[in-house]
Amino acid sequence: MTTPQTVSTTHGGTPTRTGTTLLTGAAFLGGEPRDLAIADGVFVDPSAIDRDAAEVLDASGLVALPGLVDLHAHLRQPGGEQSETVASGVRAAAAGGYTCVFAMANTTPVADTPAVVEQVHRLGLEAGLATVRPIGAVSVGLAGERLADMGMLAGSAARVSVFSDDGHCVADAELMRRALEHAAALGAVIAQHAQDPSLTRGSVMHESPLAAELGLTGWPSAAEAAIVARDAMLAEAAGARLHVCHVSTLETVEVVRAAKARGIAITAEVTPHHLLLTEELVRSYDARYKVNPPLRADRDVRALREALADGTIDIVATDHAPHAPEAKQAAFADAAFGMVGLETALGVVQESMVETGLLDWAGVARVMSTAPAAIGREPGYDAPLEIGSPAHLVLVDPAARRIVEAASLKGRSTNSPFLGVELPGTVLHVWHGGRRTVVDGEIAEMPVQA
Ligand SMILES: [Zn+2]
Repeated sequence: MTTPQTVSTTHGGTPTRTGTTLLTGAAFLGGEPRDLAIADGVFVDPSAIDRDAAEVLDASGLVALPGLVDLHAHLRQPGGEQSETVASGVRAAAAGGYTCVFAMANTTPVADTPAVVEQVHRLGLEAGLATVRPIGAVSVGLAGERLADMGMLAGSAARVSVFSDDGHCVADAELMRRALEHAAALGAVIAQHAQDPSLTRGSVMHESPLAAELGLTGWPSAAEAAIVARDAMLAEAAGARLHVCHVSTLETVEVVRAAKARGIAITAEVTPHHLLLTEELVRSYDARYKVNPPLRADRDVRALREALADGTIDIVATDHAPHAPEAKQAAFADAAFGMVGLETALGVVQESMVETGLLDWAGVARVMSTAPAAIGREPGYDAPLEIGSPAHLVLVDPAARRIVEAASLKGRSTNSPFLGVELPGTVLHVWHGGRRTVVDGEIAEMPVQA
């Protein structure tokens, strides 16, 4: 019997560092340049690798951020494949710098059974470019009447940890109360689409003098803030975590701030479009600007930016909502709600938060990666870019500027409000668990998985 002289596998002993990558000179979370090294899917000590054997990439001038995590995306599969699929959605995600995407439950059929969440989970594994975490429905069929079997969804192979009826508000207070109690028992979170339906019948834009001028039905700010206030009280009573989707108004910011001051376990998100765009765009009657909740007023945009900067709003989430062209070609009042956002989110955040001095890049890493991962209980993002952490990495050229064009979007739909708009920052390279997913701004072809 012979004794092996060298250990050549990753099982025991000193693992062989095959395929080591060394990145030199990138601004670490936007700060001082620091070398980064990746081997076997994790960040390793750059001073401990064989530099001659490593693939070296000069990253000077680029900002190194952790892979982005989107807590709120609509990937449309199953049932909406004409507008997006899991595979096309993760291409858009990767191109935008995302390595993990939470997929909303308003598919057809609804993600209210283990079969559907496991299907989405499996499609994500097959697509391979990013981690796909299915969100489970709160109520059966998103009908707001009976609770879905949340325990079954949490215990499924898709390990659901976020529940949402997004697209619909869980309007019934008793149902919301029981959902929060179940979520608390499961260690999960309820992500509420806060919209009192009785205040928003037929609403298609922000309720304001402009809505009256344009002859469009308004969506009052109180319809959002009132539900958030109610749910904060219910979450406190249940000892549960509440997450507020797409906060869009000054009033909601103030409710969230008060709830946090009271010690309630509430977190909140803002979308990129609500950080940059206002209702004035609706003057065009172009349905690209139709979204729910609607684009609001200047004072709301200012309040949302300040709230994201001071931590009242915890994260940026895209609410990526692809639609086939027909759905947006109708008259404004009849067109579908929603905008794609995965590929423009980082640029919009750079424009609205970084270039305004409200947030530094370490702050961007927090609101677009660390914090959303923590809310969604996705492991591997709590020590961004640190040795031993999974190598989820984005290299951004912050000095580049680009005009957003439909032809360059990697998702299946192009209903972006930013077409023709110049945005700062270009995502050049992305690694997901040490595997290249974006190279020089293009999607890396993935090897077929066994
Ligand atoms: Zn929503």
